[in-house]
Amino acid sequence: MKPETTIESVESFILHVPVTGDMVQDSTHTVTHWGVVGARITTTGGIVGYGYTGTHAHLASDRLITACIRDAYAPVIVGEDACEVQRLWSRMYNYAPVQWVGRTGITHLALAAVDTALWDIKAKAVEQPLWKLLGGATTERLAAYNTDGGWLSLDKDTVAENCRRLVDDEGYPGVKIKIGSEQPRSDLERVASVRRAIGPDRRLAVDCNGRWDLPTMLWVAPHLAEHDVLWVEEPLFYDDLPGHAQLARAMVTPVALGEQLYSVDAFRDFISAGAVHWVQPDMTRLAGVTEWLRVADLAYAYRLPVVPHVGDMGQVHVHLAYAHPAAAWLEYIPWIRHCFEEPIEVESGVYKKPELPGAGTTLLPDAVQRYAQENEKA
Ligand code: MG
Repeated sequence: MKPETTIESVESFILHVPVTGDMVQDSTHTVTHWGVVGARITTTGGIVGYGYTGTHAHLASDRLITACIRDAYAPVIVGEDACEVQRLWSRMYNYAPVQWVGRTGITHLALAAVDTALWDIKAKAVEQPLWKLLGGATTERLAAYNTDGGWLSLDKDTVAENCRRLVDDEGYPGVKIKIGSEQPRSDLERVASVRRAIGPDRRLAVDCNGRWDLPTMLWVAPHLAEHDVLWVEEPLFYDDLPGHAQLARAMVTPVALGEQLYSVDAFRDFISAGAVHWVQPDMTRLAGVTEWLRVADLAYAYRLPVVPHVGDMGQVHVHLAYAHPAAAWLEYIPWIRHCFEEPIEVESGVYKKPELPGAGTTLLPDAVQRYAQENEKA
């Protein structure tokens, strides 16, 4: 007899959810909506699993991902037991025709969505939140830092006031602001004004989004140290391993990166080269929960802290960060939380531990109705 967790169907969805305000910008990206692009998998026993990746809500690009979910991966897993996640992950990842056209990128984002939906089913089948299925919480207080007050599209005074409010009024122990513009001096003024606004005891991280080159970064570095910056994120182009390694050796301020790395292999190269200090895996760009855990284990072996990048806006990462001993704290951006049955919740700077069974990915029907761009059944 087949188990109740046998995969019966795989559907795809594309939601475009508005960001805070009309638009936000960093040094590289302009975003008006966040794309929640994913897989809805139904089993013969009626369990429904959801998984998604995060995008910049560009419909043509999003459709490449959903085509991969429906047309490439669904036929590989329909009829299989959803609970055998590792086996199905390997089967999809090693599926030669798909691997031939992409071991990273679109195919990896699609695999992330499918893998997460399988973990969601597995956790729902045993009626446990994912963090418990993964072995339980390794901390009772997962601290949050807030990124949503520090966009480059906001003026300097607004960013400083946002950050002051986040730490003083809302209790966040730290904030992150965007830099990396074409005027490094004005970026340093932003950093200085935020440091003044939040005081000396709160953590302040900065994010260049891959924009600067090595000489610019070497010039900026000592000034960042003056303002006690916790890390500089993606200082150079994402794939520039030798540049990051050189910078990490030259700078007092630690380097954070990982949101643009697609595989455990890429993390191995950056970590073993000493090119990263704060490791930022994102399960929506890595191939889901399965590969995220491998990267977190890798970081753990090097005794490096993990601070996930929340391409999922935290819904799944809160489970992973509570469960994994390498996770130090977790980014918070509230854009899509209202779309889920159990939205992420931060109180006084600490993430609430999820309680419902699953991976935190179950979408509310209202949200699907309101934001769906496409909903096709495999
Ligand atoms: Mg970033």
